[in-house]
Amino acid sequence: MRRNILLALILTTGVVAAVAAKESNGAKSYYPEKIRVAIVRDSREVDLNIHGRYAVRDMTTGRVIGRGDFLEDTKVRLLKRGILMGLDVYHVTRLTIEPDRDSFAVIDGRPFRGEVTFIRTPDNHITVVNDIDVEDYVKGILYHEVSHRWPMEALKAQAVASRTYALYSLNPAQPYDVTNDIYSQVYGGRGSERYRTDLAVDYTRGQVLTYRGKIFPTYFHATCAGMTEDAREVWPQAPDIPPLMGVPCSFCKMSPHYYWKRNFRLKDIQEALDLHGYKVGLIKGISIIDRDRSGRIKNLKITQRNGNELVIKGVDFRNIMGPNVVDSNNYKIVMKGYYVDFYGRGWGHGVGMCQWGALGMAKQGFNYKQILAYYYPRSVLINYHELKTPGTAKAGHPAAFVK
Ligand SMILES: [Zn+2]
Repeated sequence: MRRNILLALILTTGVVAAVAAKESNGAKSYYPEKIRVAIVRDSREVDLNIHGRYAVRDMTTGRVIGRGDFLEDTKVRLLKRGILMGLDVYHVTRLTIEPDRDSFAVIDGRPFRGEVTFIRTPDNHITVVNDIDVEDYVKGILYHEVSHRWPMEALKAQAVASRTYALYSLNPAQPYDVTNDIYSQVYGGRGSERYRTDLAVDYTRGQVLTYRGKIFPTYFHATCAGMTEDAREVWPQAPDIPPLMGVPCSFCKMSPHYYWKRNFRLKDIQEALDLHGYKVGLIKGISIIDRDRSGRIKNLKITQRNGNELVIKGVDFRNIMGPNVVDSNNYKIVMKGYYVDFYGRGWGHGVGMCQWGALGMAKQGFNYKQILAYYYPRSVLINYHELKTPGTAKAGHPAAFVK
């Protein structure tokens, strides 16, 4: 009898727990299960084939307007009054291919999971948007962010940071949420999935970082070389919250990006500045005016041969020269006549998680929760299905996610 009561109790509690879980996973979550990635933008024609069965849907009316078992290599082009796909003309401005469960579409040679929508842009180009499960999306980007051979805890930390940033990027007002290049996170579709990075995504399924119950932009970068950066030093409109304040980092010392050196002709710098609307004459010298608390450059002074001086922010100067040319905003300058040497440290903007530091922490035995707590102080890890409100205010979403 007693046992039966106990059993009943366990069963009821189990049911209650299951119901509670269902409610918290129900439709009330603010965040959708899917993310829309622009995989082709403003193209004249797109290569397409479809492996397996599929349906074609007119997104304006929601009607299915075609079906097929397999689509051989074909081109998608715009005609005056519709979209040409193979031999079929669809009189729509937006059509979606819905592959069956085990089917997939190949766009410009790359396979993608999920639905693919062809959109006619106002200036008559084709933009292709992949509507994909958030978890599959994270699998498609992780490989491009970190080596799939890194320790699992470092991969899990990156999976959470990438998933959080992806959800932060959702933009219902636009035809797509993110692009698949460096302006969002590089996304390679199915072809970028690897066993260990997939595993890191599965292990952390649904987990995101929040601060005071809201998702925030979990920026990350390759190597901080000593201290991470306050987000507001790079993007004045980034949220002013503890998880985006810089922390000291001694974990990335083995990074191949810890030190760098570049040499420029002063003429090249002059041309780059001119190209971006700074009218400077012949340059005589460049010097650093001040640095912020992480050691990165706040302002630079460019002295011209005519005596004029231009003061420019370090982050602006790096963007003008190219973020992959001036690897970081932390360097020393040595003038050499018509040339200048930059001796720098680190790679990337320096905000948020230091990826090589995460690797160092994982090698020292820290787990992914400890890694995330270190680089995003006072952040809280939760399942995004439990979130009922959108993320932190997005005043001036940074234009570039460049590292
Ligand atoms: Zn670091």
